[in-house]
Amino acid sequence: MSDETLAYVLEAPAAPLVAREVVIPPPGPGEVIVEVIACGLCHTDLGFADGSVRPTKPLPLVLGHEVVGTVTVVGEGVSLAPGTRVIVPAVLPCGKCAFCRAGRGNACPDQKMPGNDIDGGFATHMRVPAHPLVPLEDLPASVDLRLFSVVADAVSTAFQAVRRAELAAGDVVFVIGAGGVGGFVAQIARARGARVAVCDVNAERLAQALRFGASHACDVRERTPQDVRKELHALARGWDVPSLRWRIFECSGTPAGQTLAYGLLARAATLLQVGYTPKTVELRLSNLMAFDATMHGTWGCPPEAYPEVLRLIAAGQVVLEPFVEHAPMSALNELLDALAHHRLERRMILDPRR
Ligand SMILES: [Zn+2]
Ligand SMILES: [Zn+2]
Repeated sequence: MSDETLAYVLEAPAAPLVAREVVIPPPGPGEVIVEVIACGLCHTDLGFADGSVRPTKPLPLVLGHEVVGTVTVVGEGVSLAPGTRVIVPAVLPCGKCAFCRAGRGNACPDQKMPGNDIDGGFATHMRVPAHPLVPLEDLPASVDLRLFSVVADAVSTAFQAVRRAELAAGDVVFVIGAGGVGGFVAQIARARGARVAVCDVNAERLAQALRFGASHACDVRERTPQDVRKELHALARGWDVPSLRWRIFECSGTPAGQTLAYGLLARAATLLQVGYTPKTVELRLSNLMAFDATMHGTWGCPPEAYPEVLRLIAAGQVVLEPFVEHAPMSALNELLDALAHHRLERRMILDPRR
């Protein structure tokens, strides 16, 4: 029940997370308590934990924003029944403002992000607004529910980026950074009928991308952006696709990746900035002008887009299992350290009861 919650709490920047018994107040109107089945570990959690990014809610804070769980207690005016299994999206829009009404809920100024604006999913239970939750219905009994935690951010963010890019069948997609989100961009773009080339500095990730969605992999270690640009532009021209149908997804969240992605722009091409780094890069913005090119930022995914993500998964067009690994939540500090030192090949899914 909600009065016996074990949570892994960030109490000071760059300090290890501390396991604490905490008391979650009962849900208010429009809120529910979700019992966490599993929570994914994201690079963003590392940024908060190591002190390089400051969360919105003052510490102490429970991190974690990739949650699948079961509704246990419902507040006044909530239509979800206790027992409903749900995805808790990483972006919980208010649902009422001008942004939400315009279908841009992922940019809602009143949005709540678990593990940033409110306490998150590195816990056995959490309290969240009910209306943005995504019910998981009609799943075969054999489905491993824990896998759906990664839909809350890694998969849905990739989906929204592809949506924002207005990707069409036959387009060419360049993915910079084939880990986490980038790997799912490759799968979703392929499912939409695009031809996909991925760039990364990790041979294992490139091999994985070739197995799931990509038809070309480019190991960019020790290579200049100019050199990579030559290769990828020649590839797309070889596929006979004009640059107005090129979509570049920057998913690495590194200055080098951003520089490369920007360098790949060409006439009427489109760049989506998906990854995050607090660092800056120097760019000649006039290239956008000269190329009549387009650049979009993309953040999270509005809840109303989730059913389509779930359909892609149900149809087997997006697979989750080969991209994840399971671990006990009690190993969080070691896993954060491994993430910081690039020792994790897959997205970790954490069990709060272990
Ligand atoms: Zn995340
Ligand atoms: Zn809103």
